[in-house]
Amino acid sequence: MKRISKEKIIEEIENTSLKDLGKRAYSVKKELHSDNITTFVIDRNINYTNICWVDCKFCAFKRRINEEDAYILSFDEIDKKIDELIEIGGTQILFQGGVHPTLQLEWYESLVSHIHKKYPDITIHGFSAIEIDYIAKISKCSIKETLQALKNAGLSSIPGAGAEILNDRIRDIIAPKKLDSKEWINVHREAHYLDIKTTATMMFGSVEETKDVVEHFNLIRDLQDETNGFRAFILWSFQPDNTPLKREFPHLQKASSNRYLRLLAASRIYLDNFKNIQSSWVTQGSYVGQLALSFGANDLGSTMMEENVVASAGARNSMNTNEMIKVIRDAGEIPAIRDTAYNILKMC
Ligand code: SF4
Repeated sequence: MKRISKEKIIEEIENTSLKDLGKRAYSVKKELHSDNITTFVIDRNINYTNICWVDCKFCAFKRRINEEDAYILSFDEIDKKIDELIEIGGTQILFQGGVHPTLQLEWYESLVSHIHKKYPDITIHGFSAIEIDYIAKISKCSIKETLQALKNAGLSSIPGAGAEILNDRIRDIIAPKKLDSKEWINVHREAHYLDIKTTATMMFGSVEETKDVVEHFNLIRDLQDETNGFRAFILWSFQPDNTPLKREFPHLQKASSNRYLRLLAASRIYLDNFKNIQSSWVTQGSYVGQLALSFGANDLGSTMMEENVVASAGARNSMNTNEMIKVIRDAGEIPAIRDTAYNILKMC
């Protein structure tokens, strides 16, 4: 299949009918996934702290260190959450915090090492690029040294969170203190060269235009050409409730399902070197999440036993394993439980 250009995909997002865009994305998906299988992972989000200095304007989760409901989970509290995950057959923790202003690399190493030793069968998928970048800075280490130390302690892979839109004009508006696009790409590049796989994400629906979305697609497609280190792409929409960005731009509304499905289909067509595209039922709801399987997605993400970040901004969808299986079967696909590396663990 001939690689599609930036100009052409912008044209398709803007002007092709939703039906035709979906059909095209679905046929690309079927070339890569002819087995009709839709996967998901049983995992739990653990937000080890909500203390964060970064002040992203789209975030309703972060707290200042002296706020009443600011927290850092103790190792015991984290263990209890992992015990609960194991009880329902889970295999992965998605481990992310706010960016704590003072915690140093030694603290993170001891935390990861504690979990890895106590729960060797649980995959630690954790710490987004902004956390890695800041841990390195505050600990006076390079990104490479930080990643290597966390890998040695038991970190398996890194989520793509914090990419938002990889365009610095947009980042300066929505998250001015966050690392810039080049730095985000660099953390992932360094991880890939250390054989730490990652995922790539995008949060759309704030103040960006279609060309900014495509610039983002292009940056991650280029890095994937170089390293093949991304396991999946995940797209979700800005959730405006309770956020400073909504107060600054009161006209902002939740993105429409049409826009979500258009961008999802475009991602499947443009990101021709990504095998896995996730449906974001957590922000879109189970119905649109299911529809996404006809627009290029081959994976339903995770059961999200606990989700705090987008829930703070108004997205409170939930699904357990049985509901996931039902949604996938109802879409005419075969459900399967996978691990973090997208290996199938069990057909359902
Ligand atoms: S999105 Fe993450 S980095 Fe940004 S303010 Fe919220 S917790 Fe901090």
